Amino acid sequence: MLRVVLAQPRGFCAGVERAIEIVERALKKYGPPIYVRHEIVHNRHVVEDLRTRGAVFVDELDEIPPGAITVFSAHGVAKRVEEAAAERGLPVIDATCPLVAKVHNEGRRYAGQEREIVLVGHAGHAEVEGTIGQVPAKVHLVQTVEDVARLQVTDPEKLAYITQTTLSVDDTKGIIAALTQRFPSIVGPNVRDICYATQNRQQAVRDLAGQVDVILVVGSRNSSNSNRLREIGQELGRPSYLIDDADALQPEWFDGARTVGLTAGASAPETLVQGVLNGLRRFGEIEITTQDGVAEDVRFRFPAQLTDA
Ligand code: SF4
Repeated sequence: MLRVVLAQPRGFCAGVERAIEIVERALKKYGPPIYVRHEIVHNRHVVEDLRTRGAVFVDELDEIPPGAITVFSAHGVAKRVEEAAAERGLPVIDATCPLVAKVHNEGRRYAGQEREIVLVGHAGHAEVEGTIGQVPAKVHLVQTVEDVARLQVTDPEKLAYITQTTLSVDDTKGIIAALTQRFPSIVGPNVRDICYATQNRQQAVRDLAGQVDVILVVGSRNSSNSNRLREIGQELGRPSYLIDDADALQPEWFDGARTVGLTAGASAPETLVQGVLNGLRRFGEIEITTQDGVAEDVRFRFPAQLTDA
């Protein structure tokens, strides 16, 4: 018999729930099609489900017809995207997670102090592109401690850092330590930018790693926080696999394993976790327990246009 320990917490965070519900409420209030710039959250199943209900996902605003309702994804957008939408008169509903918007505000505050900004994040990630485009200052992107050593800044006395919300707490700790060592005057936010959901899911995986032989993370390849969960499991010496759904399960992963830890990234729905449990049952009997963990009760407000939907 395989013992399965479910991580607590796992799966949807408040920012993802809000973003999905924004598209659902917009579909209900205005009817399809609703245009969404970028994947609303980084999960293939969520995007496909909303697509079948009338959401149209586009990469750029010029793919959206004049006057069509336009939703910005949870990851946020650059100022130029907001301006382009306003110029075209697109009615916009902003699903940017309030915790991402908070990082934008921090960046703008530091820019107002005439500081250059160091953004700790992953190149090419939608959130990072949005944040760089929201801060009216020179922004240096660093991804590793080595990047810190290579940084060329105008004035080391006029620097601030901010971070992507979904990085590994440990990785950012090392990079921030390298930044403060090289630039002792650098300032950063009092409370870390890594969001509560990322921290809680990472801590749950750390705890799981002490109890299980193999770790499964339900999430899509392009989901930053899901990738970090898999990396943490792997770094702690447990073979760890990122899977979109039960179809990706490979029986050989469980050879010799007695206990499996199961978690899900912040953009992965619980139905997929339940599907993975069913998939594991195909290999034999399982016994399920749930980890003790943090109970989350964070909720964010909806944009004014949708409070009545
Ligand atoms: Fe917001 Fe954190 Fe969820 Fe990202 S992972 S949407 S920052 S709550």
